[in-house]
Amino acid sequence: MIANCLKVNEEGHLEISGCDTVRLAEQYGTPLYVMSEDEIRETCRRYVASFAKNYNGNGKPIYASKAFSCKEIYRIVLSEGLDVEVVSGGELYTALQAGVPGSQIHFQGNNKSVGELTMAIENGVGDIVVDNREELERLETIAMEHNMVAPVSFRIKPGIDAHTHEFIRTGQIDSKFGLDLASGEAMDALRRAQQLEHIVVKGLHCHIGSQILEKAPFVHAAEVMLQFFAKIRDELGMTLETLNLGGGFGIHYTEQDDAIPYEEYMGDVSAMVHSKCQELGLQLPRIYIEPGRSIVGEAGITLYTVGSIKEIPGVRNYVAIDGGMFDNPRYALYQSSYTCLLANKASQPADYVATIAGKCCESGDLIQEHTLIQKPEIGDLVAVLSTGAYNYSMASNYNRNLKPACVMVSHGESRIVIKGETYEDLVRNDV
Ligand SMILES: *Cc1c(COP(=O)(O)O)cnc(C)c1O
Repeated sequence: MIANCLKVNEEGHLEISGCDTVRLAEQYGTPLYVMSEDEIRETCRRYVASFAKNYNGNGKPIYASKAFSCKEIYRIVLSEGLDVEVVSGGELYTALQAGVPGSQIHFQGNNKSVGELTMAIENGVGDIVVDNREELERLETIAMEHNMVAPVSFRIKPGIDAHTHEFIRTGQIDSKFGLDLASGEAMDALRRAQQLEHIVVKGLHCHIGSQILEKAPFVHAAEVMLQFFAKIRDELGMTLETLNLGGGFGIHYTEQDDAIPYEEYMGDVSAMVHSKCQELGLQLPRIYIEPGRSIVGEAGITLYTVGSIKEIPGVRNYVAIDGGMFDNPRYALYQSSYTCLLANKASQPADYVATIAGKCCESGDLIQEHTLIQKPEIGDLVAVLSTGAYNYSMASNYNRNLKPACVMVSHGESRIVIKGETYEDLVRNDV
């Protein structure tokens, strides 16, 4: 199985962290998001351990919470020693509600509003990642009004093109995120920040993309960023303390994904960081990385019930489920690959070619096309694997469908961490 938390039990059912998925579906209904707390904690521990090993503990992983945001996930990662990253007032609010101290929050985003920046200042957010010049000026004004000094870092476009899907590439010049290195835009912003009384620049940040399955772009990004550290020292006399190298580590959606163990990225990047610092006479900065997908992605699955099957001879076999693009828009958005199986027949051969279709009024509402599953019948339980990241967080109420509940499982026990929506929830804001 593509995640450690999954196995097929003696009854031939898919099991996640000791919980039989057929029982989970009976108890909580479908569609249902299921997340393995054990797997999430294990992954957090591997990241934390690699910081101890590679940087003597001088740095830490930050959970990029746009991958999956709810109160419980913030509590879990916090208890494992991670900081959290948020990209909106809503994520910031959720993190604060979950008890994350402002000092452990990093606030990203390419167009933070005055309201969001004010909220960050008032709650003592420890790292506001400035994306552009306008934001820098806005922040200076807000910090001045609050008689505070805002701790910031700068989002830099290192000019690196990681080989991943076009919509999730962010490190190249043509990106809406960050300040450009080559044109001098980034240096100008730092020079300006030096003049501002209510801004203190702590460090630099870059994030080159997502679902990256190679090590080289990360190593190269570290090199480019440290060269810029030295340039800043030489031209501005500024010593920066922190370097955030972003997230983007790829995971297994299918057996074909050649995901690299996280320790390997960490080892290679750290070798570059140490050698570059020595070469450039820099003090080793405090290192951050910001994984999102790789912390929660493989830990999550989604369960659905088959409601109709349409076999169109010579064309395809539609297997329709009680969910779809409203709980998982990733296939509709990016044609993302997924591993699908029938959770109640997991030990049977997967020799039936299916197109898993949702229930929304869109022909493009598919979860996977031409994928091999066990021979389906009405009422079977479909499991889609590796749905822990960018599924619940991207869910919508399209067609006024209800966002499913999310259940956390650990050592054979399950508990609701997000309640399923009700029809009343749908009309709550309607006037
Ligand atoms: C999305 C994002 C991340 C996390 O990316 P993953 O691919 O989920 O690891 C980290 N940092 C920033 C700035 C992001 O926008």
